[in-house]
Amino acid sequence: MRPVLRGTAALALTAAGLWAATLPAAADEDDVDRYLDEVAVELAEPGVWVDPDAAGALGSAEAADLDEAAASAPTGMRIAVVPAWRLDPEGQDRLVGRELLYEGEELASQLYDRVGVDGVYLVMSVADSSYDGRGLWGVQHSEEGPTYYVEDAIDQAVECCAPDYGPMIDRFIDRASDVDHPFYVDVAPWAGGAAGIAGVWWGGTTLSARRRRQAEEQRHLDVVRPLLTEEVIELSDRVSDLPTTSDIEQAKLTKEILDTVEKARHRLDQAATDDDVQAVTSLLGGARYRIACLTALQQGRPVPEPTPPCFFDPRHGPSTQERQWTPEHGVSRDVPLCDQCTVRFDAGEAPQTRQAGRGSYWEGGEDLVAYIEGYWNGTAGTWRFPHNDHSVARSRLRSRWESRRPRARLASYGRSLGKAASSAMSSSGDGSGGSGGWGGGSGGRSRRRSFGGGSSRRSSRRSGGGRRF
Ligand SMILES: [Zn+2]
Repeated sequence: MRPVLRGTAALALTAAGLWAATLPAAADEDDVDRYLDEVAVELAEPGVWVDPDAAGALGSAEAADLDEAAASAPTGMRIAVVPAWRLDPEGQDRLVGRELLYEGEELASQLYDRVGVDGVYLVMSVADSSYDGRGLWGVQHSEEGPTYYVEDAIDQAVECCAPDYGPMIDRFIDRASDVDHPFYVDVAPWAGGAAGIAGVWWGGTTLSARRRRQAEEQRHLDVVRPLLTEEVIELSDRVSDLPTTSDIEQAKLTKEILDTVEKARHRLDQAATDDDVQAVTSLLGGARYRIACLTALQQGRPVPEPTPPCFFDPRHGPSTQERQWTPEHGVSRDVPLCDQCTVRFDAGEAPQTRQAGRGSYWEGGEDLVAYIEGYWNGTAGTWRFPHNDHSVARSRLRSRWESRRPRARLASYGRSLGKAASSAMSSSGDGSGGSGGWGGGSGGRSRRRSFGGGSSRRSSRRSGGGRRF
């Protein structure tokens, strides 16, 4: 076993370069306490702080992302990512099964004592194995406001993602942003603060729903981005070959086409949501329609009315005709087609459909909803997409997102209002002296925030837990 001397002693060594003078005594419990003081300073504001000695645990972009998520969580969330050896009284790399100086929920409460601000505290202890002190512990201390699912969030983080630190913290933030008690249960003891607390709950629910939706939209984008990139490049090439013209109307149209493709390219560069995807295909559809108009003018024909894109492949541009088509599992329906697809169809050839993943794009489910919506509900016009899979996927997506929004969740809580109200009554009843403590609020409890203080504030504990993993 290699004894490792680290921390302040090692720092002094590099700074001063004096081996003999600064040869440190073995680490002790005070070093751990001093270290936690430093961590508390780093976490004066909510967010994620990663000890430079644990920097390998998270990528810097990942850490910045999680920092932002923790800082914008509905309750102050302070998360420390620290190497396990900093929490070991002996300061050793290998704990060989020893306990950390503070372990379990107590470790997170130690941070709370030092920072002295209500909220959620989480300590991620980084090591090679659980035997060496790798673990995740958290607690919520709050005298007011809702209770969050801290304990459950830790369980979920370990179960979903251990030992990947970043995804674990991400899951924790997401789950710990959910309110355990519906707000009116928390509100009952302090009716005066009802509006404010409802606001906190509302904000928290919205945030959590937003984060889930963001993750879903990111997955859609992963599927659709290659398709869109290909289409933007293909159209850019086409429009860069458009001839200059002295005809005013044609020149104006040419400029519009160039602008539209440029807008689509720009929007795709910045794309993060389904709305962006829909905007891109809407622009691409508009550009193709204008190209059809320009071609007509060049050939001395009148400009065509807007029509839906070719059903088999929207890259073919606006449709010109309709044909009766029957999908493999489905009934016959009219589909709009471009000239070339009509010729192939009439000749009995199999359609060449736009591929996405393993099949035609309309079989892409939720991933392709925004892509199709943009083409069929675009700036050029609004048409009904002639395949049911799309409308099924679209309503599934929308009803799921709708159900996660606070209004919908409030309605579902409302159905159990009677039960919850009676539980609020009993919670209020034992608040004056019950062991739970937080339900009181009679004014007798000290709200003073003294640094490093302790036991009286610990009564604000709401939920916590954790384990090695
Ligand atoms: Zn076609």
